[in-house]
Parts: sequence; structure tokens; C-alpha cells
Amino acid sequence: MMSSLAVAPAPETEPPFMQKLNSGQRRAVEALEGPVLVLAGAGTGKTRVLTTRLAWLLYTGAAQPGQIMAVTFTNKAANEIRERVGHMLGCSTDGWYMGTFHALAARLLRPYAERVGLKSNFTILDDDDQIRLIKQLVQAHNLDDKRNPARLLHAVISSWKDKGLTPDKAPSDSGDLADGKLRQIYAEYQERLLSLNACDFGDLLLHHLTLCQKHPDVLSNLHARFKYMMVDEYQDTNVAQYMWLRLLAQGSNNLCVVGDEDQSIYGWRGAEVGNILRFADDFPGATVVRLEENYRSTGHILSAANGLIANNRQRLGKQLRAVAGMGDKVVVASYWDHDEEARRIAGKIEAAHRGGHSLAQMAIMVRAGSQTRAFEEVFLSLGIPYKVLVGARFYERLEIRDAMAYLRVLMVPEDDLAFERIINTPKRGIGPSAMQQLAQLARDQNIPLTESVLRLCETDELKPKMRQTLQQLMQSFSRWRQLLHTMPHPEVAQIVLDESGYTGMWQADKSPEAPGRLENLKELINAIGEFNTLPAFLEHVALVMERAADAGAEQVSMMTLHGAKGLEFDTVYLPGWEEEIFPSRRTIDEHGSNGLEEERRLAYVGITRGRKHVEISFVANRLLHGTWLSAAPSRFVAELPQEHVTFSHRPNAPRPQTTAPAPRNLFHQIRTQQGKPAAAIPKTPPTLSGTYQRVPITPKTETDKNQREKNHLGRVRHGQFGMGTIVAREGQKLDVRFDNGKTLKVMAGFVTMVNDA
Ligand code: ATP
Ligand code: MG
Repeated sequence: MMSSLAVAPAPETEPPFMQKLNSGQRRAVEALEGPVLVLAGAGTGKTRVLTTRLAWLLYTGAAQPGQIMAVTFTNKAANEIRERVGHMLGCSTDGWYMGTFHALAARLLRPYAERVGLKSNFTILDDDDQIRLIKQLVQAHNLDDKRNPARLLHAVISSWKDKGLTPDKAPSDSGDLADGKLRQIYAEYQERLLSLNACDFGDLLLHHLTLCQKHPDVLSNLHARFKYMMVDEYQDTNVAQYMWLRLLAQGSNNLCVVGDEDQSIYGWRGAEVGNILRFADDFPGATVVRLEENYRSTGHILSAANGLIANNRQRLGKQLRAVAGMGDKVVVASYWDHDEEARRIAGKIEAAHRGGHSLAQMAIMVRAGSQTRAFEEVFLSLGIPYKVLVGARFYERLEIRDAMAYLRVLMVPEDDLAFERIINTPKRGIGPSAMQQLAQLARDQNIPLTESVLRLCETDELKPKMRQTLQQLMQSFSRWRQLLHTMPHPEVAQIVLDESGYTGMWQADKSPEAPGRLENLKELINAIGEFNTLPAFLEHVALVMERAADAGAEQVSMMTLHGAKGLEFDTVYLPGWEEEIFPSRRTIDEHGSNGLEEERRLAYVGITRGRKHVEISFVANRLLHGTWLSAAPSRFVAELPQEHVTFSHRPNAPRPQTTAPAPRNLFHQIRTQQGKPAAAIPKTPPTLSGTYQRVPITPKTETDKNQREKNHLGRVRHGQFGMGTIVAREGQKLDVRFDNGKTLKVMAGFVTMVNDA
């Protein structure tokens, strides 16, 4: 079949999707045999190459859908690939091997699960459950849980998994951690997972990798099946993923990867940018394609991003040209605090929307997930529709987790974690001592909790009433399982929630959240109906963990910069560009200059998501973990090339009264702050010209206090009332005599200090 590929269809018969490629892209798409590397900057059409190549393989008959694997990192990106390919070929792509590493590994693992000690209906645990398990092990070993927080041990174990290290290969010396016994805890954790018939995320790939390594028949089946493999965002693969891809690609040697070393942003999760830089050595004879035309962003945006990333040392360096015109400069705005930042941005979004711009084409990208909160509050109060793509929101809710636990026990009775969650929810009078009894028996006999319930119920260990309750619960589960044979699964799910008393629990609840929770449960049942089977639904939830079905809706998108990979929007807001936050202090503390470079790549990813308009902002004061910080602008602001940036004034801020060009001063101010200890950084808000400042809301340091004292009787401008003089102050309330003669009480946060000198 391969030989027919040498004769590509004549141009007039070429499908339209091939005509939309430039020459470099075409070369990558048409290089069907052997390894292919597309190493190119943001927005140059790498993902387009990948999807078009997939369509072309099918169009030319080089492969059948089941013979191609296309892998990417996020569910959103996987959906995007699915949609683009479906659109090009005009057919459904259901059942094709396109998805995230996790989803594909889970799918390939299930039929062979027994060979790694699991059953094919294994469950995939979420982070909470994983950490709960580790906590139990920490307790069982009598380790000090202050010095050995389960979260930390979990993170180290996950990082071993990312490196492809099974317990026998993990480092035997874990230093102070877990008194040097972390490897043993890892081994026990793995055993515990197997006995629960469960996997964590890292296991999906690791188990499959082990399976392929130890079972040549499985591997050769896969080699025979997958003639073509393609990977998007290859710069973010970790060692385990790399080993997995390498092993699978040995069959056909037809591995095509696309990526950009400047967008490698998952180093903290084990990504090895070296994987992409080494590709041509690892896969000799690879066709290497570089793309230089950026089709996404207008010129100023692209140049600003290029200028910023040029500060990184660890890069190959590349030229990117914007195909579109220069467009708008990147806006840099400064605000008093994060509330003002959220309000102003919301205001701009509303104005743009009134001006005919679609909300679906606007996004807010933040460094840390918690930063979306300020925006969510403002958006809710203003009624601006939005969605948060940080993942998980819906399925993280208490009632959804509870309901899911019922369904997990229904499908997998040995799922102890799920059973623990629901055994006394709603309240059934099963207290800690009864739980302890059950757990003890389960441990001693090495049986699941549900089994130990059944056994205990055959004895007189339990009080008659409790025995009766538990017997009823177990009988209900058997009955519900029977129903699955005769009734549609969404109806069974509804029956489980109703008959178990779970729905009734919320109906009886008088708290204000209860009605919302009942609504969510209804929505869960609807979502279940979209899947053919309950296990398919459970897997979807475990892997996807985000609310689907609202793509393209008229909503502003909010997401972390990490979640923004591969996406594009007409307008992108990048708030919170302050030292400590972005670059993240923690990353720099932990990883030094490598960490800083990764943060800068993250900034590059953010800017290059914007097609037409990008707006960066920073604030002077931010509430972080409950304390107010005086923030300094991020060093990245100063690194933006000035000729591609414009500075925005707050609408109620006074015009600068000096003639000095504003941006220069700001750059000067920021530049001179670099490298100074925080205390030396002026605590006044970042200004465009240094001629005005806001009254600090609360004094945080001596310097602040002095500053405030100085400001005490200064001139101010109020957004609504105009200029005035402070005559008295009480906490955040100011008495201001305005120039029209009236004295009014106003909030300190609503005025701007004006330096008349
Ligand atoms: P990223 O690095 O951010 O993942 P990418 O290299 O994958 O970006 P794509 O998302 O494939 O880039 O393409 C960026 C935008 O440019 C998309 O809107 C895409 O449709 C458009 N595009 C790509 N190639 C072309 C082309 N040859 N002609 C016109 N538009 C193109
Ligand atoms: Mg892409």
C-alpha cells in the first residue's frame, strides 16, 4: 500500500484541506514514511499539519482509521483535533485512536488488565482518593505526618511514575522523606491500588508500558495495528510517555511529532524538553521541518512575544513572521489591586461585547487557578457569562463526588474508597467504631470492605439494628446491579440515588445550597445518558473531569496559562503579571534559572494565544493567601520590547502632569527594581509617570504607614466627584472636600492621590 503513496493525487483532485497549506506544512503532511519532526514556533500551523496529515493518510488510503494514533495533552486539544479531522473528512471520528495519553493508555490497557494484576473494569482514582490512600500508609508506618505530608509523598511518587520508574526501579534512598522508606511506601501504595482494582493517572501509562515491555505478544499486536503515530505538543512529553511512544513506534517507525521548545511548560511535571531536541538523533533519518510563518497573531503581538522569549538562554532560537498586518500593540495596564483589575477587565469585556465582539473569542489566562476567583465574582455580579476551563469544577462538587461514589460501588464492589465515602452518607448510624471494625476485618482477611460487611453481618459482632441497615444496603446494591441488565443505565443511576436516600438527604436539607445540589444531580443523570454504558461514563469523568458540551458558547473563557496550550482567541487578557506571582516565586525558589525560563515560556504561551488583542496587567496590591502584598510589576513586563507595547491609563486616573513620555519612565522604574530586595521596591502603585498614586488601603509595613501618613491630607481625584482634598480619615473611609465645595465620605479605594507638585 505504501508504494501507491509515491503517486500523490493530481492537484485538481486534491481535497480542499490540502490546498490550505504552505510549502513547509505540505512537506510535513506528505512525508508519510519514516519519522517526521515539525519544530516550529507558536501559531505556525503545527496542529494544522497534524490534523491534515491524519486526514491525508485516510484520504490517500495509506491507512484505515484504526491504524492511526494521534496523541495530545489536554482533553480540549484532543476534542479540537477530533473536530478538525471530522470537518475535513466530513465523517464521524467516533472510536478512532485520538486522545490524551491517559485516555489512550487506559483504552489499550483494559483488554489486558489481568496481566498487570487488575481487572478490566478497574477504576481511575482522582487526586483526593490517591492522597487519602497515601495518608493511610503514612499512618500505618507511624510516620510524622507533619514532616511527611501525604501531598508531598504523593508528588514524589508521581514524579517517579512520570520518569517511568516502577517501585523496583525507584531510588532506594529517599533521604529524610518518610524516614527513607518512600520506596517501600510506593510499593505498598501500588499493592493497595491493585487490591482496590484501581489506577492513578500515572499508572495508566506505566502499567501499559510494563505490559508492552513484559509481553512481546501484546507489543507485536500493537505494532501490527498502529501504522502511523502522531503527537502534538511533543515538547511536553515526560520520560514515561517518551519511552511508551518509542516502544510503540518501533513497529512502523512512522512517528510524526510536532512541537515548540519555547512552549515547554510542564517541566515541573516531569516534561523533558530534551525529548524534542533529541528527536532527530533518536530517530535517524527523520524529516525535519521548520515553519516560520505565524498565521495566528498580528505583528505587534508576535514581536512582543518574540522579544520576551529572546531573554531565554536555553533555546534554539527561531524567526517568526506574522502573516497578518501589525495590528494593535500589546496593552500593558496597571491597577490598584486585583479587585480593580477584575472590575476594569470585566468593563472592557462588556464594552467590547456591546461593540459586537463575541464573548467566545475572549479569554482570561492566569498563572494560578485561584486567580480566577476575583474574576468569577465580578462576572457573576455583572451577569457576564463565563466558563472556567481549569478543569474539574463540576465533578469536584461534593454531591457529584458522592453520587459518583455510589456508581463506582455499583460497578466495582471492591472500590473501598468509594464505599467508605457512601457507607454513612446519608447518615445510617454507622459510626467510627463500626467503621474501624469493618476496616480491621478487611485488612486481616485481605478482602474488600463490602465483603467484610457481608461477613460481619453473618455474625453477632454488630448491633442488630446496624446489622439490618448494612444488610439492606448490600441487598440494595445487588438489586441495583441486577437492574442494569434490564433497564437503561441513567434510570438505574437515578434509582440508586433515590433508593439509597441520597436524593432525599438533600431534599430534606434546608441550607441555601441544597437546591443547587439537587439541580447538579439532575445534570449528572443527563450527562450519564450521553454515554452508552455506566463504565464508559465513569472513565470519562475520571479522565476528562471537566464539563463538556459548552464549546463555542457565548461565554468568556477563563483558564490557567498551562491549560491554554494550543488554544487561540481574538482577545486575551493576561492579569497578575507581578513578581512572586508571575514568575512564580516558588518555581524560581525550587528550580532557579531553569524555573525562571519555564515561567518565561509560560508568558510566551500566553501572549501567543491572542489573535488581535492582548492585554497584560499588574496591580500594586494583592491579597495573597490572606495577606496584602505590595506587588512589584513582573520582570517580564520590562522585557517586552517597548516599540510593540502601549500603556493604558485607568479611565479615572488623572492624566500625567509632567511631559515625560510615560512608558519610558515605567520601564525605567521597573528595570531599576530588578534584583533589589523586596523591601527596597517602592510601595507606591505602579504608575505610568510617577505623578499620581492611590491611597494604600491598609498599612502593611512601616514604609506603608509612613507613606499613608504623608498621603493623609493630600489632593485626590474621585472617579465620579472629581478633584478634592482629604480633610479627615477613618480607616478606609475618607472625608473629602471636593472642589465644588461639598464634603463627602468616600472609600479610600475609590480615589486616586494626585501629586500637585
Ligand atoms: P501552537 O504552537 O500555539 O500550538 P500551532 O503551530 O499548532 O500553534 P495552529 O493552531 O495549527 O498552530 O494554527 C494557528 C492558526 O493559524 C490557526 O487558526 C490555523 O487555522 C491557522 N493556519 C495555520 N496554517 C495556515 C495556513 N497555511 N493558512 C492559513 N491559516 C493557517
Ligand atoms: Mg498547536
